[in-house]
Parts: sequence; C-alpha cells; structure tokens
Amino acid sequence: MTHANQYSAKAGLMHEEPLVFEHAHEKATSINLPGVTGDMPASLAAFSRKKAANIPGLSEPETVRHFVRLSQWNHSIETGFYPLGSCTMKYNPRVNENIARLPGFAHVHPYQPEDSVQGLLESLYEVQGWLGEITGFPHVTLQPAAGAHGEWTGLMMIRAALQAKGEGHRNKVLVPDSAHGTNPASASLCGMETIELPSLPNGQLDLEALKQHLDGNTAALMLTNPNTAGAFESNIVEICRLVHEAGGFVYGDGANLNALVGKARPGDMGIDCLHINVHKTFSTPHGGGGPGGGPVAVCEALAPFLPTPHIRACKHGYHLVQEHPQSIGSVLGSIGQVGVLIRAAAYIAAFGRDHLHKIAEDAVLNANYMLARLKAHYHVPFPGLCKHECLLTDEWQNRDGVKTLDIAKRLIDLGFHPMTVYFPLIVHGAMLIEPTETESKEMMDAFCDAMVEIAEQCKNGETELLHDAPLLPMRRRLDETAAARKPTLVWHGEV
Ligand SMILES: *Cc1c(COP(=O)(O)O)cnc(C)c1O
Repeated sequence: MTHANQYSAKAGLMHEEPLVFEHAHEKATSINLPGVTGDMPASLAAFSRKKAANIPGLSEPETVRHFVRLSQWNHSIETGFYPLGSCTMKYNPRVNENIARLPGFAHVHPYQPEDSVQGLLESLYEVQGWLGEITGFPHVTLQPAAGAHGEWTGLMMIRAALQAKGEGHRNKVLVPDSAHGTNPASASLCGMETIELPSLPNGQLDLEALKQHLDGNTAALMLTNPNTAGAFESNIVEICRLVHEAGGFVYGDGANLNALVGKARPGDMGIDCLHINVHKTFSTPHGGGGPGGGPVAVCEALAPFLPTPHIRACKHGYHLVQEHPQSIGSVLGSIGQVGVLIRAAAYIAAFGRDHLHKIAEDAVLNANYMLARLKAHYHVPFPGLCKHECLLTDEWQNRDGVKTLDIAKRLIDLGFHPMTVYFPLIVHGAMLIEPTETESKEMMDAFCDAMVEIAEQCKNGETELLHDAPLLPMRRRLDETAAARKPTLVWHGEV
C-alpha cells in the first residue's frame, strides 16, 4: 500500500490518481506538429505565444490512462445496484442506446428543414402521444430539459392562464413539507410565493391545513403522488376538488410516475399539469447532472399556453408550430432532448401498451420485498405497504450513536452504493431505498444482507467501525458540504 503512486497499482489494481497537472512533465505533448515559427505569416506574428500555455504536458497514453482511471472511481448503473430513492436509477437497456444512436436521430440538427427530418418528428410526435396517454392528458410539450425545468414551465403556463382570466394577482403556491426542493425553487423562479403545508403523521398531506391556506390568492398546489415518503396520497381526488373550488390549479410532480405507469393516470385524478422525468421513469443513464428530459403534460385549460415549437401532424407529414398566440414562448433552444426522448420511446415500446403496467408492478413489488426484509432491523416511520421506494430511519441505531450517514458509508465497504439519505426532510434520519423494476431478487437480497449485517454490527457494539467507515475506498469521509459550497474548479499552479 505504501509505495502506491500513479505508476504502480494499489492492492486490487486500484490506481491512486493525482490531478492531471501533477502527472504533467514539461515539453511532453500528445501531438506532433511540424515547426511553424519559421514561416508564420506576418499577420499572425503578433499573436504568437510569449510563454508556454498553462496546460499539462502529457503523452497520449498518459492522458488516456488518467481519464480512464478516474472513470473507474465512479459508480454507475452498469457497475452495480444504484438504490437512490427518488432518483429511479434503473438499468438502461442497450437496445435504447442503439436506437438513440441511429444517424436519423443522432446526426441531425435542430434547425434542419422540416422535410429532411420527418422520421425524427414522427417519432417525437409518437412519444408525445404516448406520454399523454400514459399520464391521462390531452397535450404534451417535449421541450423542458429536466424535471425541475418542467416544473418551472408548468408554473409559467399556470401563471399565463391565470393572467388570461384576469386573475394575475394569484401568486401563492402551496407545497407540502415532504416535497422535493425543486418545487419551492421553481415557484420562486416564477415570481410566486411558496407556502409550506404540513404532513400528517402517516406522511400524507394534511387536508385541514390545505383548506386553511386555500384562498383567492392561491395559484396552485404542487403535489408529488406517490409522495416522497413512498406513500400514495389517498385523498388525491378530494385534494384536487378543493384546489379547483378555490380557483387554483393542481401541479403534479411526476418524478414518482414509476409507481403508477400503466396502472393509474394523474390526469384522471384531477391533476391539471404534470412533468414526467423521462430519464427516471423511462430509463436513460442519468446522474452527475444529466442528461435529462422533463416533458410536461397539460389539461385543455392550459393548452393555449404550451411552449413553442411543438409538433403537429398535418396532411403533408409533421410540422413544427413556431408561433402560437398565447404561448409562454420557447423554454429550450430546440424541440427537446432528442436522445433522452428516443430512449424513453424505446423503453415504452419494449413493454408496449399491454405490458407497461409491469414496470409499476415489479417496482412496487421489489420495494415492498425490501421493506418486508428490513423492517425487523430498521425503524419504519410510516406503517403499511409502500409504493416503489421504501423508507427507513436510523431511530433504532441512533440509540447506540450510529446514524444514517454511518450506515450509508458502511454500505460502501460492503460493495453497495448507498441509498438516498436524509430525504424526505420530514423524516428524521431518513433512508430512502428505490430498487426499481430492473433489479433481481438476488441483487436485492445481497443489499438487504448488507443492511442486516450493519444493523447487527451496531447491535454488537461495533460502533467505532461504523463511525470510521468507509475503510476501503480510495477516498474516505469527505467534507461534502465544503465540496459543494466551495468547489475548487480552477488550477492555480499549485496542489
Ligand atoms: C428528481 C426529482 C425532481 C427534479 O427532477 P430533475 O429531473 O432532477 O430536475 C423533482 N421532484 C422529485 C420528487 C424528484 O425526485
């Protein structure tokens, strides 16, 4: 272990990997250019470099090895189970990649003439229709680039609809305290004021609190169903009725659509507008910031305000509608994230109308299997069955001074990517586990075995081990807050 550096491998062939600048040695380069100084045209002479560029000098193999090694420090859905609750990290079938990379999808330009991309427009038009049918809405925009972007787009449409009715003064958005942080952020970005609604002890929205806050200034309620505690909002129909009665719209956060696909449709529940995180529910490798797609499905009342361009079928084929009198305008530089949308189309088509419900059934069954295996070892905050993700807490381990963070870090030693921790915020020491439909019973058993082992280690008084974990990875406990708040992104010449 002691002599490891970038030239020798550590045990298990894991290489320590310094910064690319630390590898560098002067004068090395991965390209050979013929000498140019002699016959440089006079017009360029003024631009010639006075001192060396501040870029690392590396040969081609050194460069390639640096980046490949860094990639090996990463976890991906191709390397293993990725049980992050709320993120729906499902395996992305390779056939999706093959389809998304067909030249007719991958090698076209967003501003190419319409008649030269009819196949692409037809495919997008089709997926637009499928998303509408799956969610129960008559209209869909494919433009938004992610769920959060969809939230903002949806709220902009709601704002435009209220203004068109002469009710532009409505500026309050009600958001349950279990919501994802993007909900209040999107509302603020739209110039709306957020009002937080408390949840009941069973994790569901408090109807009485909702009634108290609904008034003539309510623009919308934003609701995730099933919510981030993994529970279905069983009063959803009544909730929608109350909001409509008060003159507001119901915005559905569709991030948890995985629990509903092919079984129940948000549009049928009374929701007016819903974003679909296609990169969650319908595959696409995501994480680390993208790519994503956040199509928004809307009811008739919001249709006049849809972003442009959107795709229409006409008698000559498919057409991009660029102008629309009441549209909120364009929210992306193109029709949408084509690669992500095509992967979603491939995932939906692979199941087909008759088998789409298997996604939700298998995802919910898997989560309940894990809940059943783990509930004797970890405290379960909300009783009963869960939807597609199961929620545990560190309440029992906390008595011995072991916290959610320790459990998550120890999982890394045992070969697993941790679950989502400390979310939803309403549950103290939350651990949110989402297996998705693409994991096998064997994989879930292996993960549960690791979780049980950690609970046993805690019971046996091995708290020091748990506080020190992870012991095995290249980097141990990092100051994640400092890394997020004060990232060092620029090389200043010193390590
Ligand atoms: C992921 C998620 C979002 C945000 O979606 P992005 O695609 O990451 O922008 C919003 N709400 C919930 C509940 C989520 O899980």
